[in-house]
Amino acid sequence: MDLIIDLIILLVKALTKKEKVEAPATVTQRRFAPPPAPRMGSKEVADLAARLQRIERAARDEARRCAGEEQNERFVDTLLGYVATAAGRGRTLLGGSDAGSRVELVRSAEYFESLLEVMTDLAQQRRDPARLLLLGDADALADACYRPVVEFARTHGIKLSSQRTATMLIEGDGCRHTLEAENLSILIGFNPTGLAPILLPASWGSEPGWWPALAHEIGHDFLASVPGLDGELRRACELSGDGWLPDGGVGFTGRDLDAAFTVWLPEIFADAFGTLMLGPAFIETLIWSLGDPQHPENVIGVPPGPGWMTWAPHPPHHLRVVLGCRLLAEIGFPGEAARLESEWRARHGGPDALFFPTRRQTWIGIADEAIIRRGESITHVIYQDELASLAGFELRSIPGLDLGPREHEAAREACRAYFAGQRAPTRDPRALIAGAVLAWSERPSLAPSILRAARATIPSVGVARRVLRRRADSNDARAAGPRRGGVDLADWREAMVLSAILDRPRGLPRR
Ligand SMILES: [Zn+2]
Repeated sequence: MDLIIDLIILLVKALTKKEKVEAPATVTQRRFAPPPAPRMGSKEVADLAARLQRIERAARDEARRCAGEEQNERFVDTLLGYVATAAGRGRTLLGGSDAGSRVELVRSAEYFESLLEVMTDLAQQRRDPARLLLLGDADALADACYRPVVEFARTHGIKLSSQRTATMLIEGDGCRHTLEAENLSILIGFNPTGLAPILLPASWGSEPGWWPALAHEIGHDFLASVPGLDGELRRACELSGDGWLPDGGVGFTGRDLDAAFTVWLPEIFADAFGTLMLGPAFIETLIWSLGDPQHPENVIGVPPGPGWMTWAPHPPHHLRVVLGCRLLAEIGFPGEAARLESEWRARHGGPDALFFPTRRQTWIGIADEAIIRRGESITHVIYQDELASLAGFELRSIPGLDLGPREHEAAREACRAYFAGQRAPTRDPRALIAGAVLAWSERPSLAPSILRAARATIPSVGVARRVLRRRADSNDARAAGPRRGGVDLADWREAMVLSAILDRPRGLPRR
């Protein structure tokens, strides 16, 4: 999966580089120019023109079809305004471009094709009513997470390069493309189009634990979308590491730690964003997805990058969970934060150190608190510092970004409603899902029923109102029927049998 994202990022770079090649080359520039790109023959140029024309035509056809569909109308802008326009512009450039920029145009064509393929799937999956409901619910949660930042950016003149998403399922019919992912992930390479698709794991429809992770992915998109934010955070946190693992000969220095945090910054930002968005529910998701009580060494070992030379992008699980808990305390949930951190520690045998890899393929153990303190100084900057790229504001002063006490209470009310068989008294997708996660953390084996109750009143994106009314009513009828209770008696029975037979592990390995 990472490979595909890397490829898309590479292709985006190729696309943006294309602009520069057109500058008239002076003698001085020529002297320092890279070796000439392989020349394209006239047949290759004609093939490329035909290929770009095919892309443009297919994007226009798909846009025309989407324009007539309530659920897919929102893809028209990207298909016409980005894919078709860029492919058309590529064709125009082809006539006058030199050999080097023609090679760049081949890469651009590959990029446009991958965009078109994903856009076509986004629309196709939404032509199936059952999938449309599931994706529309996920989109509603994503929109609710984007709303505060989009609103803030609009009122403060910040131009976000991407400010919305559309979710897609990664398996089953209608997934013609070759993307494969076990985990939730966002295609940041789509950022220039203004829409960043998020890939949902196969168990999305049955596992409430996945849902808060959507906020983490949107955090990635937000960081990439605000001009200058990433660089400003790096300067404010004094992160200018070179990305290399410690060499292993001289122990572990402050520089080594900076190198690690330099690489981990986007993940730390995305976790902080998720914590702000969904509060305790986000930490529950982190604990569920990152925990490994059977092999606690997996949560305290810092993963090396390929070949044991550089750091991998993700911080160790123990650090991620503890940093999430510490930020949770800072935003007004000290009781929940203390409980969640001590539960996490107890489940993993009370870890007090983290183990760092070296280029000699050895490990160095360091007391966890020292590392956590450095991490906390970074989340503190992310949350509390005034940032020029955010028009001089702190993240914490963006209205509606933190899950405040009122929203948390709404989540708790929703949780009580699910168990009592009543309709949740909110339609806010953040509160509905946070409530579902609270219920599920009490009764993990009731996951499907809890998620069904939570989804019953989500204002699913692209779905007709009468369909939503019917769904909410049928859920009410189900709860009020002879098997009264927010979750079915059959589900309770199944839960009891299952928990008697085996203590099901809750964790799935995931980053
Ligand atoms: Zn991430």
